[in-house]
Parts: sequence; structure tokens; C-alpha cells
Amino acid sequence: MAFPVEVTSTVGVSKDNLEYGSFRKWLIPISASATIHTDEGKPPVQVGEALAFIIRRSAIQHSFHEMMEPPHQGTMDLALDLFDRYGRLKDEIREHPLRKGSGVWKGELDDGNLVLIEDVKVERRYRRKRVGSKLILHILEQALMSRHNVAFAFAASAAHFNDDGGAGDAKPSSVPHHVKVEGIASFLRFLQFRRVGLTGWFALARDSEHPSRHLVRHKDPNPKLEIDDMIDSDSDEEVVECNADFTQTRVKKSEWDARWLGSKPKQQPAITSRSRPLHYAVKTLPDKDALVFLKSHTRDGILEEFPLESLDGRGDTLLHVAAKASKPACVAWLLRQPTIAAFTVADNYAGYTPLEALQSKLEDRRVRAPHGFSRTRLMADKFDGFDEDSTACLLILRGIKDPSPEQRMRAKFGCSCNECLEGFLSPHMLMKLRVQGQRWDGFLTELIPPGKGWYAEFKDLLNHFPESFRPRVKRSRDLQEAIVLLMGAIVCCLSEGKVPRRAAVLGYLQATEAWARVEGQYFTQGGTVAALVRAVFESAKQLDPELGDGILDAEPGKGQNSGPKCRNDLEFEFVRCHCADDATPEKETDKPLP
Ligand SMILES: [Zn+2]
Repeated sequence: MAFPVEVTSTVGVSKDNLEYGSFRKWLIPISASATIHTDEGKPPVQVGEALAFIIRRSAIQHSFHEMMEPPHQGTMDLALDLFDRYGRLKDEIREHPLRKGSGVWKGELDDGNLVLIEDVKVERRYRRKRVGSKLILHILEQALMSRHNVAFAFAASAAHFNDDGGAGDAKPSSVPHHVKVEGIASFLRFLQFRRVGLTGWFALARDSEHPSRHLVRHKDPNPKLEIDDMIDSDSDEEVVECNADFTQTRVKKSEWDARWLGSKPKQQPAITSRSRPLHYAVKTLPDKDALVFLKSHTRDGILEEFPLESLDGRGDTLLHVAAKASKPACVAWLLRQPTIAAFTVADNYAGYTPLEALQSKLEDRRVRAPHGFSRTRLMADKFDGFDEDSTACLLILRGIKDPSPEQRMRAKFGCSCNECLEGFLSPHMLMKLRVQGQRWDGFLTELIPPGKGWYAEFKDLLNHFPESFRPRVKRSRDLQEAIVLLMGAIVCCLSEGKVPRRAAVLGYLQATEAWARVEGQYFTQGGTVAALVRAVFESAKQLDPELGDGILDAEPGKGQNSGPKCRNDLEFEFVRCHCADDATPEKETDKPLP
């Protein structure tokens, strides 16, 4: 006998809520519950539940990744999988010929509030009775109320729609993972969600005129399915082990199993008995050994021969594997093989050429690292360049045989415009810093001669200096004058297209008569060039016209579109750290996550 399913929900939490109370200014949880009432004499029975979050994006856009990481793994995954650090759809999903999938999602995804449908659980014996869709439709109805101003809903096709949970489930489902994922994907498509790029995420546009709403279900592409049987190179994959102090180490899974599950380490089959021996060798052996294996087991070799041109279950050619594993000797050798050279433009199942596959892997590493059991440490601000082997692979795959120091630095620091100064300071960033430097310089010189009023006006600027230095500036006109002069020198440096390091900045002052006072007073009392450079960076970030609420235009007649775009264009903190070379040691900010 069928009983009507009733869905109720709670929208929002109080500030005392332990899980989400501290995020309530921008994160509104919706918990929905599906119940049936079978027996009048007993209370209703819960048969399903769902969790969703309304995200007020504009409130957190300036530090989107940082804000989305702590509340829930789902908010973290959504932010890091689809959006850049400022909450804008990743370029790859808009522009890459294959990774953009259907191509219906573009810049409109950069703005507006979101709802993330995180978790839908239905008791197993009530599945296929539309309980899940009732829960989702109820959540959408709540979230899309006009007061929340939600423009898009998101849901992932994997992992978050858990059908192994629920009190009535004695054992996990035997349905293969990819079948479940396909089932969820078709369910979401039925609700008018469409895949975002080739990712595992689906989105629904509130606007019925959005192109996604006109894309018929069967034309919404799926990524090519990986074939597990053809990926033997992962048989002893690395796992992240979380230590008691929350640091992480990577260990081989077999070692981990042996230590924690007591299983005996399995004898690893010989490389030559793997289904893709060359792939396996390139992935797992050190670069030189892998190269020896490649040479001796291919057509020029003297041993057992394996085909150089084979693909593995991810559609990876050997060149993809060597690139992703950052093995420069293998990459260089492979590119010299006539049958492999054409593979530089071959796409794997994820849609990447070998160079793109490496770039994607490095980009991921640049942005995030696993932390604890389910957290992510955000790394972009501390980026210190890619390792030597990865940099070498990037250069080889780009066809740069004899790189100049500049080209090497650009590859190392992820420059994508090929114009970054010292590899990291892009023309766009340089222009923005110059505009902000000039702005500061204008304010500072307007109030010359310095005096009491000057100090009151520039208290904020002084926040960038050590605490002991600030009261001295209040008392000393010489220090105030030094600050004005140094800011002028920073502007000169930026205007001449130089990285504003201490020596370069001071070069503009050392021949002036004021230099003795600057040197004798400012530096001996704890002043630094880096503190003023930091002020310039900070206002450049806060007032950036590309980041939503910037109030200043880049430069009259020189809009943000002048010059090539670069991956480093909006990485203010990373670039600042690489400019500053006379800062007093900064406080350790690598504290545990909240
Ligand atoms: Zn660049």
C-alpha cells in the first residue's frame, strides 16, 4: 500500500549552530526531510533526507576558495572544481575546445547566488518511489524563492547522492560506481540540470532562456568512461596518510594496508607482465630507469618488445603518462620517436593533450593540497614555482629546446602570457600596481609638508609596518618624508617596468640629497620597502576592476584587455611575496585550519 510522502525543511541556522552558525552571513543550509505516516497511532517515519546550501557569492567573492573550504566538503569541491579563487567559472570550462563539454556554461556563471544540493539519502526500500526527486524539487522550490536571489543550482553526479546510508541498509549496494553515477546524471538531467564542461558537476539555470535549458538531454555530453582493467599503473597507488599532528605523508597503499589492516604486502607483478608495461614503467620508475626500460623494451631494444603507441584505460598515450609523471628524459626521448611525435596533439579521455594534462596536474598542485581527512589546504598564495623536472617537461613539450633564463622562470612560475617579468609579474599586474602606486603617491604628496594631519590621514598605510615603527612616524617628519619619497621611487620603478625590489627602488633615491636622511632614519628605525610595496598590492587587489566591486578603472584608455592575459594576473599575494626582499620575517601564517 502506498503512503503519501511528505517533505518538510528548515532553511537557515541560528548563530549558535555548531556546524554552520559561523558562516551564516553567506551560507544558508537547507535541511529537508521526507516522511511517511503509516500508522495513525505512531509518529511519521523518516524515509529520506537531503542537505543543500544557498551561497551568497558576492559576500565572499574576494576570497572564494578560502571561504568555501571550511564549511563542508561539498562547498569546497564545488569551489575548487569549477571556480577560480574569485568565484568565477574556470577559463578551461569556458574556453577549452573539449573540456567545455556542451559549451552552454559561460561567464554568466560568474555572478549571482548559488544553491548546492549536497546530499540526498533515501532508505533503500523507498527508492524508485520518487522520494529523491521530491526532496530535490522541494529544496529547489525553497532556494529559488526570490528573496534568496539564486541564479544557479549545482549538484555533483558522484559521491554525494549516497544510497548506501540509512538505518534500513544492512550492507552496501552492489551496484558498480559508474552505473550509480550514470543513474544520478540521468536523474539530474531529467530535472533540467546539464553537465558543466566535462566535469562531474551539473548545473540548473533559473532563467528558462538560458542555453542550458534548450539543450536536449541526449545531446548533453558525458566524459569518456575510463576502463579500469587497462589502468594497471595504479595498482600500488599512493595514499595520503594523516598523522596525529595533522601533517600529511604520502605512502604506498600496500604499505598502508600492511601497517593498518595487517595485510601482507602483495608481491607486485613484474613490470613486463602488466597490461601496459611501458606506461607502468614510465609512471613508477625513476626517470633514468624508466628511460632504460623504454629503450630496451621497444623496437630498437634487445628485449621483449611492447608497442610504443598503446593507450591505457584513461586514453593516455605514453607521452601523457611521462608528462603527468614529470619525467623529462622520457618525454624528450619519446618526442624523438617518429610514431610518438604526432601524439603531442592527441587528447586523452579527459580531453587533454600531454602538455595540457601536465599543466592541469601542476595547476591543481599549485592551488590545493590534501589536509587532514577531508580538508584542503589552499596553496596558491605560497606558490614557489614548479619543481625542476616539471618545469623541464613543460619546456620540452612546448618545443623550447634551449630555454633562456627568462623562459625557464616563466615555465617555473606558471606564466601563460610569455611576458611575465622574472617569470611571475605579468603586464596586467604591473599596470595595476603602477596605477595604485600613483594613487598612493598622489595622496601622499598632496599633504606635503608632512605633519600631524598627514599622520592621521595615512594611519591605514602604516598598518603595513611593524607596530614599533608606527608611533615613531607620528613624531618624525623625516620618517614621513621618507615614506613619501619611497612611494615615489616605487612608482618610478613600476613605471619603468621593473620588479619593485629594494635595490631597484632605492636606485631612484640614492643619488638624491634626501638619501642620507632616508637611509639614516627610515631604515635604521625599522622601515622597509616591502611594507610600502605591500600597501600598493593590497589596494590593487581591493580595487581591482576585474574582481566585481573594484571602483577604479585600470587606466584611462588602457583597459584590462590591453596585453595578453596571464595565469598570474590576479595572484596578488604570490606576486607580492616574490617581489618583497627586505621584509622582516613575517609571522608564520601556516596555522591549523579553523
Ligand atoms: Zn605571464
